[in-house]
Amino acid sequence: MQENVCFSCGGLFPDIEGPTHRYMTSSAGCWHVYGEVLAREYSDPAYFETHRLSVDAYAVQHPGSTDRQSIQSVGVHLIRLCLFLEHGLTADKANDVMLAAGKNKHTFTFLSPPEHMGDITAADVAKTDSTDEHIAMVKRWAQSAWDAWAIHHKTIRSWLPDNH
Ligand SMILES: [Zn+2]
Repeated sequence: MQENVCFSCGGLFPDIEGPTHRYMTSSAGCWHVYGEVLAREYSDPAYFETHRLSVDAYAVQHPGSTDRQSIQSVGVHLIRLCLFLEHGLTADKANDVMLAAGKNKHTFTFLSPPEHMGDITAADVAKTDSTDEHIAMVKRWAQSAWDAWAIHHKTIRSWLPDNH
C-alpha cells in the first residue's frame, strides 16, 4: 500500500482517505492506525496502564492549532506525561493530579510545537506483534514524544498542581 508522512507526527502511514480527529489534526492514515492501536489496547486489560500513555503520546504529537481547546488538550497531556515519566506516578494517581491541573487549564498558554516530534509514532506501535512488545514500544513512544517538547519542559513543570 502507498504510504505518506503525517504532517504532524512525521510517521509513515497508509495513504488513505478518511476521518481525522476534530482538533488533534493528523493525516487520515495516522488517525486510522492510531484507531487500531486503541482497539488493541481496549481488547486486553493488560494494556490498562499503557493505554493512557498512548493517548498522551498521540495527543502531544498532534497538537492541532492555536485554538483554546487545542492548547488545553496539549497542556493536560504534557502534564500527564511529565507526571508519568518524571514523577513515576501510577496511572490512577497521575489521572487525579491531571484532573487537578485541568482546573488551571484556562491559564495554559500556547506552546509552539517542536519541529521534530520524536522518532517513535503510532506506526511503530501498530507494527508490534505481542503484548510485551506493544507495551515496551508505547513506553519508548511516550518518552520520545515528551523529549521532543524539551524546550517547553520548564513551562510545563510550572503547570503541575502543588500536590503532585
Ligand atoms: Zn500523525
